[in-house]
Amino acid sequence: MTTITHSGYGYSKTLCEHVSSWYLNEFHLNDELNLYISHRSLKSEGATGFCYSISDDEYEIELDVYLNKTLYIKSLIHELCHLTQWISGDLSIQQGKLHYRNEPVEFTELHESDAYVKENELFPKCASYLSGTLSSRLWQKINYTC
Ligand SMILES: [Zn+2]
Repeated sequence: MTTITHSGYGYSKTLCEHVSSWYLNEFHLNDELNLYISHRSLKSEGATGFCYSISDDEYEIELDVYLNKTLYIKSLIHELCHLTQWISGDLSIQQGKLHYRNEPVEFTELHESDAYVKENELFPKCASYLSGTLSSRLWQKINYTC
């Protein structure tokens, strides 16, 4: 069973749970997996999110706070695509450095372009799932703007 634990501030718990469980079901990532999703200000890092591998069955996603609904969904999907890359072994740490398909990432941005393509492909699918699942009142209520 996969366990999703989320924490932090400035985010919608409903959106976090629905987007992450939609993704895990869509890609059948339902094996023994512990996923921690934490929310904090990433302003100084100039990013909307990060995804780390803690061990083979433990991963952490960090997301920026007060993202609007669209940006939140896209950023979470983007980080979940990195999760898939970690699980498949496409992303790995070799000699202390991040590698994508056995190439050090400083020589390739392929892991990012791959995640951006998937994020844009998956966003409409996820949004239509959410609008069909959440009541329209709740969907309207979920809105964080910077
Ligand atoms: Zn990325």
